[in-house]
Amino acid sequence: MRSMQIIEWGKPLQMRELPTPIPKGTELLVQVESCGVCHSDLHIWEGFFDLGNGQKFAISERGVHPPFTMGHEPVGKVIAQGPDAIGADIGKSYAVYPWIECGHCRPCTTGLPQICDAPKIIGTRVAGAYSDHVIVPNAKYLVDYSGINPDLAATLACSGLTTYSALNKLDLAKMTNQDTLLIIGAGGLGLSAICIARALCNARIVVVDIDSDKRAAARTIGADIVIDSAASDAGAQLSGFADAQDGRGIAASVDFVGLPQTMAFALAALRKGGQHVHVGLFGGAHPISLPPLAFRMLRVMGSYVGTLEEFRALVKLVQGGLALPIPISTRPLDQAAQALADLQSGKILGRVVLRP
Ligand code: NAD
Ligand code: ZN
Repeated sequence: MRSMQIIEWGKPLQMRELPTPIPKGTELLVQVESCGVCHSDLHIWEGFFDLGNGQKFAISERGVHPPFTMGHEPVGKVIAQGPDAIGADIGKSYAVYPWIECGHCRPCTTGLPQICDAPKIIGTRVAGAYSDHVIVPNAKYLVDYSGINPDLAATLACSGLTTYSALNKLDLAKMTNQDTLLIIGAGGLGLSAICIARALCNARIVVVDIDSDKRAAARTIGADIVIDSAASDAGAQLSGFADAQDGRGIAASVDFVGLPQTMAFALAALRKGGQHVHVGLFGGAHPISLPPLAFRMLRVMGSYVGTLEEFRALVKLVQGGLALPIPISTRPLDQAAQALADLQSGKILGRVVLRP
C-alpha cells in the first residue's frame, strides 16, 4: 500500500510503499476512499502540543514515533476481514469511527471512552488513513453513511463529531432567540458547529475569526453576525449585538481555536451563569481571575472529540436532513504535505479531503 508518512517531525510528509496489512482476529481491511485533513494533524505533524509558559507536550511521549501515518477522518470500503470479524459487508463503504478505546480503564467504564488511558486511535496512535488502506480493529467502528456524500461523511468522524459533542455539553434546549451563542473560529470545526447549532437550538449565533474569508463563509453558512476578533472594539461589537432587541447577553461560547486570547475574549463576554466549552488545541496557557469565576458562576469545561454513540447519532441526524454545506475541497493523497502547509498558513476554507 502507499501511505503519506511523517518521516521527521515538522518536515514534509513523504510517500512510502508498505506491505498492505492482512487483517487478523476481528480486524477489517478498509480501502480508503476519502480522509479529511484536520488541524490536529498539524499539531501532530509538528510533534508537540504547546502547553504555554514555554512548556511542550511531545507526541513521542504518547509512544508515537516517525515513520507515522496520520489520518483520523476516513471513509472507505471493506475489502477483507480477519477470521473473527462479524457485522461488516465486504465491498460496502463505511465511515470509520477512529477514537478506539481499550474498554477497561476508568474513563472507558465511566462513559468517557474518548479519553481512554490506553487508546489505539486510528491516525493519532496507530497507522491512519493518509493511505490507500487502513486497518479498523472491529466492525462496530464502521458506520453506514448511505445518503451522505462520502467526502462530507469523512469529516463527520472528527470535525462533525467534535462540534456535535461540544455543543451538546451546553444547555441548548433552554436557549431562545433572545440568547446568543458565541462560536470562536470558523475553520473546519467552527463552520460545522454553526450548522449543527442552528439545527439544535434557537439561539442567535455570533462567529468571530481573524480571517475575513472565514468570516464570510461563516455568514454564508448561517451565522447571524460575524466579528473580527482582532478588532479593538470586538468586545463592544459583540455585547452590542447580544444585548440589542431584548437580547440577554452571551449565554454560551465554544472555542474552536484555543489560544489564551480567544479564551480571554470568551470569558470576558459571557453573561452571569454562562457556559464555556474549550475545544481548540492551538495552545498556550491562560490565567483566570478566581473571585469572578465564583461571583459570575461561570461553567468552563473541556471537550474532546465524542463517543461512538454520539457519532452514530450525528450520522443519523445528517441522514435525516441536517444540512452541513461546509466548503470541502479534494486533493490527491500525494498532495498531503501541501495540504498541511496550506492549512498551516490559513489558506484552506472549510475542510480538505485527501483521495488516494
Ligand atoms: P482550521 O485550521 O480549519 O480553523 C482554525 C480557524 O481558527 C481558522 O478559521 C482561523 O482563521 C481561526 N483563528 C486562528 N487564530 C484565531 C484567533 N486568534 N482568533 C479567532 N480565530 C482564529 O482548524 P480546525 O480543524 O477547525 O481545528 C481547530 C482546532 O481544534 C485545532 O487546534 C484542532 O487541533 C482542534 N481540535 C480539537 C478537537 C477536540 O476534540 N478538542 C478535535 C478536533 C480538532
Ligand atoms: Zn481531528
